[in-house]
Amino acid sequence: MKNLQTQQVRALKEGLQGPVILPGDYAYEAARKVWNAMIDKHPAAVVCCTTTADVVHAVNFARNQGLPLAVRGGGHNIAGSALCNDGLVIDLSEMRAAQVDADARRITIEGGATLADFDAATQAHGLATPLGINSTTGVAGLTLGGGFGWLSRKYGMTIDNLESAEVVTAAGEVLHASATEHPDLFWALRGGSGNFGVVTRFEFRLHPVGPNLLAGLIVFPIAEAKQVLQQYREFMDKAPDELSVWVVLRKAPPLPFLPESVHGQEVIVLALLYTGDPAQGKALVEPLFRFGVPVGTHVDVMPYVAWQKAFDPLLTPGARNYWKSHNFSELKDGLFDTVIDYIARLPSPQCEIFFGAIGGATTEPAPDAAAYAHRDARFVMNVHGRWNDPADDARGMGWARDFFKASAPYASGGVYVNFLTDDESDRVKAAYGQNYDRLAQIKRQYDPANLFSTNQNIRPA
Ligand SMILES: Cc1cc2nc3c(=O)[nH]c(=O)nc-3n(C[C@H](O)[C@H](O)[C@H](O)COP(=O)(O)OP(=O)(O)OC[C@H]3O[C@@H](n4cnc5c(N)ncnc54)[C@H](O)[C@@H]3O)c2cc1C
Repeated sequence: MKNLQTQQVRALKEGLQGPVILPGDYAYEAARKVWNAMIDKHPAAVVCCTTTADVVHAVNFARNQGLPLAVRGGGHNIAGSALCNDGLVIDLSEMRAAQVDADARRITIEGGATLADFDAATQAHGLATPLGINSTTGVAGLTLGGGFGWLSRKYGMTIDNLESAEVVTAAGEVLHASATEHPDLFWALRGGSGNFGVVTRFEFRLHPVGPNLLAGLIVFPIAEAKQVLQQYREFMDKAPDELSVWVVLRKAPPLPFLPESVHGQEVIVLALLYTGDPAQGKALVEPLFRFGVPVGTHVDVMPYVAWQKAFDPLLTPGARNYWKSHNFSELKDGLFDTVIDYIARLPSPQCEIFFGAIGGATTEPAPDAAAYAHRDARFVMNVHGRWNDPADDARGMGWARDFFKASAPYASGGVYVNFLTDDESDRVKAAYGQNYDRLAQIKRQYDPANLFSTNQNIRPA
C-alpha cells in the first residue's frame, strides 16, 4: 500500500473544505468499505468532498500528481469501482442535498445522494422518478449506468428523466451538460457510467406518484415455478405500463406473512407495484394470485417510500456478493427449466435469481438516443450470489457462473453495465453495445488521458 508524502498531504488539504482520510486514521477502515464485502482496496487518501470546488481541487490534484482516481457515490457498485488502490478516492457521501420545485416537477440533487434521499425529498410533494429497488443505492452510479426500477415501465429508465447535470471534467472544468449545452457529454452521461467526469449535481424531471400505491409479494412453492413463470410471461405481454411485476426465486426468508414451515424452503415470488389508482390495480393483479396456490401473500396499499425500502433488509451492506447478469427480450421455456434446476442447488440461503421486468417506456427511445443502448431488453436477470463466509466464495461463484453459462443461450447478448463484476472486462463492450465507438470518441474529447478509469472503462478513441 502506498502512502502520500507529507508535502502531498499538505497540498491536498490546502483549499479543501472537507476532510481527508489517510491510512492509519481512525476513520480509514470504514472509508474503504463498500456495499460488497468482497472488495478489499487500500486507497492512499479518501477526500470527503463537501462542495463542487472540493471536487475540482481533488480532480486537479490526482491528475497533476499522476495518482489513480476513483469516485464514490453510494458505494454500491458490485465491482467495487468506488475505490482504487494507492490513489485518491473522491467520496461524495457528504454531498446529498436535494431541492424540489414541485410546480415545475423538477429536482436537483447532489452527486452523493442515495435513493432514500431522493424519494424522501420528492415524495413530500407526491412526486417521483424511476430509481432502483434498494434505498441505500447511490443516485449517481445508478443514473450513470441507466437506472431502472418499479416505475420504469411507465416512466422509462432513470436517464430518460435526466434533464441536466453539473460535471467536473478531467481538466478540472465545471460544465453544465443538457440537451442544449455540451449535448455530446450529456448523451454520454446517460449510460456511459463514471467515464466522463464527476457529476456533482443532477437535475431530473418528476411525475405524480403515490404517495400510497398498491404493492406487495405473492409467494408460491417452487414446485409450481414452471407454471407460474409461463403464466407470468403471458401476463406481462399484456400488462399495462403502470404495472411492474418482477420474479424472484430463492429460499424463503422469515417474512412475517409466511408460515414458519415455508421459511428456508425454495419459493418463487412475484413482487409487484401498480403506479395508478390502487382500486384499479387490485382488479388487474387479481389473476396473479391464481398462477398456483400461494403459500403466502402480502399485497396492499402502502406508501411508495415504504415499498422502495421493502428489500433493504435482504440487501444490507457487508455480505460477500457475486453477480452475473443477462438481458432478455423474451423468456423461453428452456430458460425456466434451467432456472428451476439451479434454484434446487442454491449455495447459500441468501442467493437468488431475479427477473426485473422493464419493457414499456424503457423500450421507446432509439438505442442511440442516449449512451444506454439496451432498448430491446424487456427483462434484466441478475444471479445474485450472496453469503457471509469467505470460505464459501468458490462454491458460490461457481454456482453463479455455471447458471450464467447455462442461461446464456436464451439471452439477448446485452448486459446492464451496473450489474457487471470486476472480472468481466470482456463484457464491457457488450454493456455499451452499439454505442461504444461514439462513447470512445466523446471520451477522447473529455478525458483523453483516461483519468476516470476506475469504472467499466471506455478507452479514449
Ligand atoms: C443491493 C443493490 C440493488 C440494486 N438495485 C438496482 C436497481 O434496482 N436498479 C438499477 O438500475 N441498479 C441497481 N443496482 C445497481 C446499481 O445501479 C449500481 O451498483 C450502481 O453503480 C450504484 O451506484 P452507487 O453510486 O451506489 O455506486 P458507487 O460504487 O459509488 O459508484 C458506481 C460507479 O459510478 C461512479 N460514480 C459514482 N458516483 C459518481 C459521480 N457522482 N460522478 C461520476 N461517477 C460516479 C463510480 O466511480 C463507479 O464507477 C443495485 C445495486 C445493489 C448493490
